[in-house]
Amino acid sequence: TRRVLDALDAFRPPAKLPVTLGERSYDILVGEGLLARAGALLAPVLPARRVVIVTDETVAPLHLPALREGLAEAGFAITAEITVAPGEASKGFPTLQAVLERMLAAGADRRTAVLALGGGVVGDLAGFAAAVALRGLPFVQLPTTLLAQVDSSVGGKTGVNLALGKNLVGAFHQPRIVLADTGTLTTLPPRELRAGYAEVAKHGLLSGEAFWHWCEAHGPALVAGDAPALVHAVLESCKLKAAVVAGDEREESAEGGRALLNLGHTFGHALEAECGYGGSLLHGEAVGIGLGLAASLSARLGHCSQELPGRVIAHLQACGMPARIADLPREFSAEALLGRMRKDKKARDGALRFVLLRGPGEAFTAGDVPVAQVERLLRDEGC
Ligand code: NAD
Ligand code: MG
Repeated sequence: TRRVLDALDAFRPPAKLPVTLGERSYDILVGEGLLARAGALLAPVLPARRVVIVTDETVAPLHLPALREGLAEAGFAITAEITVAPGEASKGFPTLQAVLERMLAAGADRRTAVLALGGGVVGDLAGFAAAVALRGLPFVQLPTTLLAQVDSSVGGKTGVNLALGKNLVGAFHQPRIVLADTGTLTTLPPRELRAGYAEVAKHGLLSGEAFWHWCEAHGPALVAGDAPALVHAVLESCKLKAAVVAGDEREESAEGGRALLNLGHTFGHALEAECGYGGSLLHGEAVGIGLGLAASLSARLGHCSQELPGRVIAHLQACGMPARIADLPREFSAEALLGRMRKDKKARDGALRFVLLRGPGEAFTAGDVPVAQVERLLRDEGC
């Protein structure tokens, strides 16, 4: 029976989540084994059965064979396979230029789709290449990290970094479809899985009591690799992010909208920048600590219950993540962190901007948080 059921899996429709953006609407499909069925799933939404695949050297040996097979089954031709070095350093102009030249030299035309197979780095890079090559090619996200499945593959932001800062050049370019194959997450290093989970917990806090409670109950199993928990978390996360994006596609709302997705990120970006982007502190780890600090700041300012910060911190600890600044193996100076927060591109007119919580599901942006309050919080956290 087991083998029969597994065989039937290939015919079961994957969980589908529509992202409603007018003529740019598309579906996110979530489930195990989607790469092996990619051709059948992509054919209805692409103009031609021709693709360029962009991936990285770590992901290619692990997941490219399944994708190749899935595409071949439906008669797709692969115009080029472009493999970049793994890591943030590939998200820049030199690699972008190489990717563009490779795909166009191989004969990509306006009807050739660009497929991003990898984490957020590959998604942002390939998405931007798709946005600018021949003034725009159809684009498909095939995210293989938890962070990419719950966050970066949804919403249409693509781009590259400058030496001046991250994500300073880019375009909104929505994909034609997203296939989140949760089976790919089994090869992800556990630390990367946990870091991606921080964005899930963020979505839990933004979504409301139901998803936040679910996180508290199932987060530890998820970071241990529980397959049904992964599917549920990806679906619920994408639901939350897709709804936010649908209301504010180009991040034009100053108050609500996409800005709320920065919960935990003002603190998080400051910690990340202080550590340098060399991987000593992963983005998700910084965001996790940022979630606890944002909840603490909210409680101190009287916006939420005094229990909430403790719940957030306890949850991250239960998931095996650093939950407080003191959990990190180095010291931070409050002055340096405050300096970083003042420079954050989300800070307006020098005032400190934070996303704060009245409770799960009740986030809001505050542009008037007194610097002294933030400084006191950081000092109490040992900075
Ligand atoms: P990443 O793409 O660098 O992937 C992390 C590491 O995991 C890499 O070494 C990669 O090779 C490896 N990897 C990927 N999939 C794997 C798998 N299935 N098995 C084994 N190893 C695998 O990093 P990330 O965390 O996925 O994404 C971070 C990037 O996403 C940043 O550049 C960030 O700016 C961007 N981002 C973009 C958005 C957006 O809206 N566009 C949102 C959030 C983050
Ligand atoms: Mg983030």
